[in-house]
Amino acid sequence: MVVLSSSGETITSDGVDEVQSAPEEALKKYSEGKCLFWSREPQEGEYVWKNAKCSQCFMRPLIGSRHGCTNEECRISLCQSCSTKKEHEHPLIEYLIPNQQYSLEKLFSSIPYLLDPKKEEHIPIKTIYENDLKSIGLYFSGHWCPPCRHFTPKLAEIYQQAQSDSKSFEIIFISSDQDEEAFNEYRSEMPWPSIPFNSTTLLKAYFQISGKKIFFILFIDYFILKRYSNINYFIIGWKNFNT
Ligand SMILES: [Zn+2]
Ligand SMILES: [Zn+2]
Repeated sequence: MVVLSSSGETITSDGVDEVQSAPEEALKKYSEGKCLFWSREPQEGEYVWKNAKCSQCFMRPLIGSRHGCTNEECRISLCQSCSTKKEHEHPLIEYLIPNQQYSLEKLFSSIPYLLDPKKEEHIPIKTIYENDLKSIGLYFSGHWCPPCRHFTPKLAEIYQQAQSDSKSFEIIFISSDQDEEAFNEYRSEMPWPSIPFNSTTLLKAYFQISGKKIFFILFIDYFILKRYSNINYFIIGWKNFNT
């Protein structure tokens, strides 16, 4: 479906996708002759969120600062002006801009706590950057993914070795599981802490992890050292790092 503007310019030649992805309220406005999605020219230094739209005013692409909810189930994205107007039951937080360097404290600002692998207890997030850790690995993985399931026990071995050698190395699991049950089952195989199931959206947006992908991101001295999408390369890298 080709969608034309009132002056005859092609707005999109992929109108089916556009209409299908539109919220009902936007479609209602569309049927009244208003723009389905609108946007504006970015000003200097403003980030363009290519695949994101504002859940309130339907700006797409969303330009400038983007705000989301700390509760993943809400799945909202708000532009700067809607975030100040809309009242929301949970705390809203600004998305971090991909590829921009932030402190670990800032990176984890949307995470309320970590889940301890052995106990029911919550680990305060600040222990990550207060304990003088040399390296941290963020493990984006899901139980549905056969290479991940295969890799997890190998990673657990590396981890336990590092712990017994008193290397200051920590791993944090960031789930891409379908539901909380699968998440809990998967994380029971892991000796390292996890980010709560409902608190991963903003980190995934920052690291541009979408859908079913496995990733391992290694920080050394709080800087991103390497991003591994092939986990075997991580193992080779780790071995070299240790010799
Ligand atoms: Zn908006
Ligand atoms: Zn919310």
